[in-house]
Amino acid sequence: DAILELDDFSVFYGDFPAVHRLRLGMPRRQITAIIGPSGCGKSTLLNAINRMTDLIPGARVSGRMRLNGEEVYGNRMDVIWLRRRIGMVFQKPNPFPKSIYDNVAYGPRLHGKRDRDELDTIVERTLKESALWEEVQTRLHANAMSLSGGQQQRLCIARALAIEPQMVLLDEPTSSLDPQSTARIEALLEELRGHYTVIIVTHNMQQAARVSDYTLFLYEGEQIEFARNTQLFLNP
Ligand code: ADP
Ligand code: ADP
Repeated sequence: DAILELDDFSVFYGDFPAVHRLRLGMPRRQITAIIGPSGCGKSTLLNAINRMTDLIPGARVSGRMRLNGEEVYGNRMDVIWLRRRIGMVFQKPNPFPKSIYDNVAYGPRLHGKRDRDELDTIVERTLKESALWEEVQTRLHANAMSLSGGQQQRLCIARALAIEPQMVLLDEPTSSLDPQSTARIEALLEELRGHYTVIIVTHNMQQAARVSDYTLFLYEGEQIEFARNTQLFLNP
């Protein structure tokens, strides 16, 4: 049961194919890692999923991408809706300079949720899912900038989960963190499996083997391999 289907899907910058003729189905509620050397097209592919590539001058796609059976590049797609249903987490934690609570409530409020009890419930649930609740429950109204780097990144994950995302896209989420914070994030990703569809871009083959169910290898924009980890790694 694939949630994201790519069929001969390419992204060009001018004439240059940054992502070339991908063909795969990413399974629902599983974790897929995208790995490959710098410049192989990982960020381009992530940006194509929520149509951020629309905003890059000279970028053009060809082929098909379907999310839940809907053509992402079809003319019936509501791009604002699409972007609001895809959670993004970047390499450098980037919480808003607001309270912890407001960071998590941001997406739900954008979706029109106003009821205080409902927002409280969402904030508590997503902070628990992001393994941050224990540390912040007594200071939800403290500024997010007062958290450590690793806590800020877990908060960014909470912000992404709070929108009931179709997918969560993580672009090298641990590469700016120390080993202990990295381990905490890897552990929380384990907990997300089965609940959320997650795509994680990483440079780190061991990390891909540890946290993901499927791995896509890219090289110079080409799909070298896409398979279940149990078929790829001897000791996943
Ligand atoms: P990765 O995330 O794997 O490092 P990118 O998706 O950032 O790779 O880049 C893929 C290729 O596309 C690289 O050769 C890069 O130089 C090129 N590229 C990325 N963004 C642009 C752009 N806006 N215009 C032209 N070329 C780009
Ligand atoms: P909209 O156009 O729907 O108001 P934005 O353009 O602000 O939304 O954001 C588009 C998408 O990017 C949304 O899914 C939003 O949650 C996400 N987003 C915006 N800013 C950030 C950020 N700093 N960090 C993470 N995700 C963000």
